[in-house]
Amino acid sequence: MLNLVLFGPPGAGKGTQSQKLIDQYQLIHLSTGDLLRGEISQGTALGIEAKKLMDEGMLVPDAVVIGMISNKLDANKDAKGFIFDGFPRTVAQAEALDSLLATKGESISSMIALEVDDEELEHRLLLRGKDSGRPDDANPEVIRKRIHEYNNKTAPVAQFYQAQNKYKSVVGTGSIDEIFHSICVVVDLCK
Ligand code: ADP
Repeated sequence: MLNLVLFGPPGAGKGTQSQKLIDQYQLIHLSTGDLLRGEISQGTALGIEAKKLMDEGMLVPDAVVIGMISNKLDANKDAKGFIFDGFPRTVAQAEALDSLLATKGESISSMIALEVDDEELEHRLLLRGKDSGRPDDANPEVIRKRIHEYNNKTAPVAQFYQAQNKYKSVVGTGSIDEIFHSICVVVDLCK
């Protein structure tokens, strides 16, 4: 299996690049942000709880997202591989993902980190907020809170994969196709 973690701060382009990677490598896309927004739009109890935190730019509890990912892994037993987008976002989530994959005799192939500076991120998120309808993209204060959560809780996940020799950094600025090409070079090397 080819199991990729697509890593980077909010607005780094993970969603855009995931779509292109799915086409190229026939992987299943697992975005915890999309899964949570699905729960919100269905009005589930989980969605109602998660929405409060998401609207403030905070992370939702580890157990919630780990449970969602575990269900999706079980539901896609015949997949060629997965792209994890927006997950793991804490070291505890990264450890849980390793354990879940190990029970299936699988592991993460590579973690691809999209590097984009904070100023560019804030600019991209505000632009996206104009037409995405995502409340967490429309408010500069919430955007700053998300970047803060990222720097505090998510950035350490890079070291977790570095220690396993799986961390690969890719420049996240330039054209969408240029960035995609850089990612493919890394992926083809780890296949
Ligand atoms: P972005 O990458 O632009 O922040 P996402 O769609 O990945 O967007 O996430 C939106 C929000 O959903 C996050 O700010 C957070 O509240 C919540 N969320 C998504 N994934 C996770 C996760 N793995 N752990 C905790 N919270 C998460």
